[in-house]
Amino acid sequence: MTLQAVKARLRRWYATTFSGMSGRWLNYSVVIFSVIFLGFLITSFFVAKNYMYNSVDDTLQDQVGQNVDAHFTPYMDRGDTVFLDGAIAYLSGFSHKNQMDVWVIDNNGEIVAAASGFAISDTEMPDYAEALSSENKMAFYSGRNSNGERIRALTYALTASGKSTGYAVRYVVSMEQIHEELIWVFLSFLLVFLILLCLILYPSLYFIRSIVAPILEISNVTKRIAGGDMTARAVVGSGNDELTELATNLNLMAEELNSTDKMKNDFISTVSHEMKTPLTAIKGWAETLQAVGTTDEELTRRGLEVIINESGRLTGVVEDLLDLSKISSGRLSLKYEKIDVLAELDDTIFVFKDRAMREGIELDYTAPSDPSPTEGDAARIKQVFVNVLDNAFKYNHQGGKVTVVATRIPPVQPDEKGWLQVQVEDTGCGIAPEELPKVKKKFYKSNISVKGSGIGLAVCDEIIKMHNGTLELQSEPDVGTCVTIRVPIDYVETETQQLVEHEEES
Ligand code: ADP
Repeated sequence: MTLQAVKARLRRWYATTFSGMSGRWLNYSVVIFSVIFLGFLITSFFVAKNYMYNSVDDTLQDQVGQNVDAHFTPYMDRGDTVFLDGAIAYLSGFSHKNQMDVWVIDNNGEIVAAASGFAISDTEMPDYAEALSSENKMAFYSGRNSNGERIRALTYALTASGKSTGYAVRYVVSMEQIHEELIWVFLSFLLVFLILLCLILYPSLYFIRSIVAPILEISNVTKRIAGGDMTARAVVGSGNDELTELATNLNLMAEELNSTDKMKNDFISTVSHEMKTPLTAIKGWAETLQAVGTTDEELTRRGLEVIINESGRLTGVVEDLLDLSKISSGRLSLKYEKIDVLAELDDTIFVFKDRAMREGIELDYTAPSDPSPTEGDAARIKQVFVNVLDNAFKYNHQGGKVTVVATRIPPVQPDEKGWLQVQVEDTGCGIAPEELPKVKKKFYKSNISVKGSGIGLAVCDEIIKMHNGTLELQSEPDVGTCVTIRVPIDYVETETQQLVEHEEES
C-alpha cells in the first residue's frame, strides 16, 4: 500500500470516527474518561512523590537528631583541629554510606570532609546559607549536585555555646532511584490507562458503528424516496431492536406512499374519465341539436335530458372534488341547526324508490315513527345517506336487494345522548377483507370496473365524524356489504315505539 493510500485511509477513518454520532460519543465519553483518568494519574504521581520525599526528609531529620549533638556539637568548643578529627572519625565509621552521604562544611562554606571520601567542590548549597540564618538551624534542598545527580539534602548549622560557628553538617541523599521508580509507576499507570482506553474504545466504536451504519443507510433510503425513487427500501436487519423497527417502518411508509401515489394516479385517470364521458355526451348532443335544429320534439327532449343528466353527473364529481379539497385543508365547515336525521333519511329513500324500480333492485326500509332530532347540517347528512345508498345500488346487481334499517338507541346514562343507527345492507359484490380497511381512504377504489371517483366514503366518514358519529363497513365478497352509520341524537322516550315499514319492489 502506498503512503498516499495509507494517508487517505487514515483521513477517512478520522472523518467517520470523529464526526456524527461516533464523534459525539467520543467527545462525551472518551474525553470525559480520559480527563478523569489522567487527572487521577497526575494526582497519584504527585501524592506518591510527596510521600517519598517526606520519608526521605524523615530519614534525614532522624540522622540529624541522632548524630549532630552526639558527634559534632561536643567538639565545637575545642578548636578546629579537634572538631575535624572528631568529625572525620564519625564519618569514617558512618554506617549508612550506601544510602546517603554526610558532608562537613567549614565556616567558609567549603566542604572539608565527606563520608564518601570524595573531594567535593563547585556544588551549589543554598541550604547552607539558609540553615545559618534559620531559627531552627536547619534547611532542606532539592536539586542537583555538580554531577547533575538529583539529590535531597538537609543542612544543619553547628553552634558552640548557643552561637553560630559557621560550620555545618549536610546529609545528602541521591533521589535518582526514587525518581526512576516514580517514573516507572507513572508509565505503568499510563499503560493501564491506554489499555483500558483501547478496551473501551474498540468495542464501543464497533457498537456505535453498528448503530451509525444502519442509520446512514436509512438516511440514504429516505433521501432517495424524497427524491422520488419509490422503489428504494431499507435493508431490515435480523435483530429485534429499534433500528430494525425503524427500517421496517420506513419501508412501510414507502409502501404507503407508493400506494397513495398509485391511488392518486388512478384517481386522476378515473376522474378524467368520469368528466370526459359526460362532456362527450353533452358535446355530442349539443352538436346534434345544432345540426338538426329543434324541429324534432322527441329528439330535442332526449338530447336535453341527456345534457341535463350528464351536467348533473359532472356537478357531482366537481362537488366531490371540492369537498375533498376542503377536507384536506380543514376548510369543510358545517351549518349546524336543529334537524331531524330521520327526515333526511326518509327524503333520501323517497328519491331512491324510483331508482330501485328502474334498476330492478328491491328496496326495504324500516324506521321508527319518532323523530331523531340533533344539531347538524341537514344537507351534509343527506349527502352521506345519498352516497351510501348510491354505493349500495351501484355495487349491486339486477334482482338484488338493499335493506335500510333505522333504529333509535336510548342513552346508557340519563345525561348522555342517544343514537340513531342507520344500517344500509346490500346484496352486491362485497369488498375483499384486505380492501375493507382502505375503502374509507380518499381515492381508494376496490372495484375499478364500476364508475366512481373513490372520494365518496372518505367525505362521508369526515361528515359523520364532524357530527360526532361513526361510519363502519362490514362486507363479504359476493354476499354483500353493510354500512352502519351512528349519529348522536336528543333521545326522547315515547310510550310506543312504532316501526314503519316501507317496501318498494321493482
Ligand atoms: P366510489 O365513488 O368509487 O364509489 P367511494 O368512496 O364511495 O367511491 O367508495 C370507495 C370504494 O369502496 C369503492 O370504489 C368500492 O370499491 C368500495 N365500496 C363502497 N361501498 C361499497 C358497497 N356497498 N359494495 C361494494 N363495494 C363498495
